[in-house]
Amino acid sequence: MKIVIASGKGGVGKSMLTSALAMLFAKNQKVVAVDCDVDAPNLAIWLGGVKRWDKTLPVVTSAKPEIDLNKCNSCGICVENCKFEAMKMVNKNLKLNPFLCEGCGACEIICPVGAIKLKPVQNGEIKIKKTKYSFPLISGQLYPGESGSGKVVTEIKKEAEKFKQEVMLIDSAPGTGCPVIASLQGANFAILVTEPTPSGFTDLKRVLEVVNHFNISYGVVINKWDIYKNLSQKIEKWAGRKFLGKISFDKEIFKAVANLKPILKTNLRVKKEIKEIFKNLYQLW
Ligand code: SF4
Ligand code: SF4
Repeated sequence: MKIVIASGKGGVGKSMLTSALAMLFAKNQKVVAVDCDVDAPNLAIWLGGVKRWDKTLPVVTSAKPEIDLNKCNSCGICVENCKFEAMKMVNKNLKLNPFLCEGCGACEIICPVGAIKLKPVQNGEIKIKKTKYSFPLISGQLYPGESGSGKVVTEIKKEAEKFKQEVMLIDSAPGTGCPVIASLQGANFAILVTEPTPSGFTDLKRVLEVVNHFNISYGVVINKWDIYKNLSQKIEKWAGRKFLGKISFDKEIFKAVANLKPILKTNLRVKKEIKEIFKNLYQLW
C-alpha cells in the first residue's frame, strides 16, 4: 500500500501528518516512511531528528556537457541553441554555466564537430535510517542548483521498495511539478492536505487534477481549519465523503518540532485529531 501525502502548496503540514501517520501505522504494520520532498526534506525532523544516517547513497540522474576545447572552433551554434542560456562565448572561449544547464543534450547533438559530450553527474543523495520507532526512513536530497528532481524521487522510491514493507508513506513535494508526479506514480491512495485560504483551496483543486489523472483514490485533510472556519466548511462540503478530517491551529506544534518532539509524543490536541484522520483513512480506501 503506497500512500502519498500531497498538497497544492507548501507549509500546510504534510510532513507533520506523514510522520504521525507513519508512527500510527507502525503499531500494527510494517512501514517505511519516505521523504520525497527533495528540495526541502524535513520528515526526519518531524520524527525526532537524525544525528547520523545509517547509509548514504549517491544519486546520478543528471548529465552536464563536457567541452573538448581542442575540437571547439567557437562557431557559437551551441550558444544560439541552448534554450536555457547556459552557454556563452567570452572572447571566443565557450563557457558553461552549470547552474543554468538542464542537461537536455541539445548542444551535444547540434555541435558540428562533436566537441561536446554529456557526462553523468551526481545530482543528489539518498539517506537511510532505521528510526527508533522501528521503521526505516528514506530521505532524498537534490543538490542545490541541480536538475532532475523527479528522477531523484523515482530513485528514492526504488530504494524504499527494497524494504518490502506493507505500507509505504510518501511525503511528497508541494505543487504539481515533476517530483509530485514521480511521487504519485504507482500510488494506491493520496492524502491531500490544504489550508482554508483561497489560494490553498485553488491549489488543492490543482493537485487533485494530477491525482485524478493517475486515477488514484484520495482523501482531504484541512490543516489549521479554525483560522477561517467559513472556508473550512466550504472545503469540507466540497470534499464530501472524501473528507478525512481537520487539524486545529496550535502554536505549540512549532515548539514541539523545534524541540524535535514528534507530535504523537505530545499531549497536544493535534494528536487526537490525527488519530481520528487515521481511523477515517481505513474507512475510506
Ligand atoms: S557548437 Fe561545438 S564547435 Fe561550435 S561553439 Fe559549440 S562546442 Fe564549439
Ligand atoms: S545540455 Fe542543454 S541546457 Fe545544458 S548547455 Fe547543453 S543545450 Fe544548454
